[in-house]
Amino acid sequence: METTTDTRTDLLGLNREHLAEALASVIDRPFRVEQIYQALYARAVRDVSEMTDLGKELRARLAERFRIGLPEITEKRLASDGTCKYLFRLPDGATIEAVDIPERHRRTFCISSQAGCALACSFCVTGYWGAGRNLTAGEIVGQVLAIRADASLPMEGLNIVFMGMGEPLLNLENVKAALDILTEWISPHRITVSTVGILPGLEEMAGWERRPNLAISLHAADDEQRSGIMPINRTWPLADLMTALRRYPLEKGRKITFEYILIRDLNDSVRDADRLVKLLSGVRAKVNLIPINPDRVLGDRMVPPDDETIDRFQERLRQKGLIATVRRRRGDDVSAACGQLRAFGRDPRGVRARHS
Ligand code: SAH
Repeated sequence: METTTDTRTDLLGLNREHLAEALASVIDRPFRVEQIYQALYARAVRDVSEMTDLGKELRARLAERFRIGLPEITEKRLASDGTCKYLFRLPDGATIEAVDIPERHRRTFCISSQAGCALACSFCVTGYWGAGRNLTAGEIVGQVLAIRADASLPMEGLNIVFMGMGEPLLNLENVKAALDILTEWISPHRITVSTVGILPGLEEMAGWERRPNLAISLHAADDEQRSGIMPINRTWPLADLMTALRRYPLEKGRKITFEYILIRDLNDSVRDADRLVKLLSGVRAKVNLIPINPDRVLGDRMVPPDDETIDRFQERLRQKGLIATVRRRRGDDVSAACGQLRAFGRDPRGVRARHS
């Protein structure tokens, strides 16, 4: 495997303040910081040489000291529905995935926050591979920039969901730094952070001034059931999670999304639906039902219910006054569907994989 010998400072992921500090001894005028900031994020340049609004000499000096660490696209798979899955290789050999999901009236990027996941949820392919390191703020923003550059899209108008690999609330500092940059162009109302419900992380997010949308991976409305498929539930059981969510500050009109994967004969009964209604009572909630995407590594019990059962479950929630939608499968034919991000069948953890 190639190792990176580039010792230049990576500019990607730096906010204005840190960028100004990094550039202080190289730039000639203070307004260069803003020019470079815009080039990095609004224009998504790949190299200092593309910063053509700077003089040649300055570009040369910058290139000596700094690089732009856009993640390298090593593979791309375009599904028949237009969904495009990207595999990125990071400088240390770790691989991560992100997905570009075009829809009629919007464009959504699904990005990763970690190169793996320690939570070991039994329905998730990323979890199957085990833990991986935290991504840096630059690597998080870099996924957005790299896909944009590849698809020739501006920052404006994008939707971002942290529903790729990893648990964003276990890498909250870097996720926050990435959000601070992204929200300069994209409204926090167009960005969704999805979590299993790491309580200290939720508490911290509650204090943020500009909060993204919050999605909770619930998947079961009963502790025994949830602990059976999501080990993290033993650390933060449902009662504690719901208490934290009831306290979570929501601006007018905002709701918390609850993701509920439907798994045949496991959590798909009318009784399960009724328990869900009860659990969410008094919470400004919308429920997103996700028929599980089966995968070879998950075993044959992890399969979706039939359409009738899905409809019945959804109807039951609606009858009781809950907003409930069923998530359409996207990018199925290239394994870009939810929970199927697994670095194209490779161990995402990079170098360590060679020892196992
Ligand atoms: N760790 C965070 C972010 C990952 S999001 C979280 O759990 O929310 C990934 C989303 O896809 C979550 O809602 C997750 O539960 C869901 N998912 C995982 N495996 C899936 C599968 N096999 N089929 C459908 N959805 C799945």
